[in-house]
Amino acid sequence: MRTSHQPALHDPALLLAEIPSHWPMAKGSLAEVRKPCIRPNCRACASGRKHPAFLFSLTEKGRRRCLYVPRDLVAALRQAIANGRWMEEQMRRTGVGLIEEHRRNRTKSSRAPEGSAS
Ligand SMILES: [Zn+2]
Repeated sequence: MRTSHQPALHDPALLLAEIPSHWPMAKGSLAEVRKPCIRPNCRACASGRKHPAFLFSLTEKGRRRCLYVPRDLVAALRQAIANGRWMEEQMRRTGVGLIEEHRRNRTKSSRAPEGSAS
């Protein structure tokens, strides 16, 4: 019996069944940065502490793009990125699984007709 960490090579329903609990998915990264504000005489900026902000970085058509993330969306976006990494892991395993399975089948069939290859 297959477990959830093995690729659902022959039964995508196994993977599809897990998708709702991993939704939404996002690809990119989240970073906390410190930015100055526009208020005059701001103590936080004058002291160099500035203000914490979250940036979401992603690649779009080969170009890097950054978006500010509203504070109340940070936790949900972080979870979406984790979900996206989970999906990428499933795809990575499926690719490796396809190659390994092909190798196993090739080894089996090449043993059968002994000496038939020229
Ligand atoms: Zn400030």
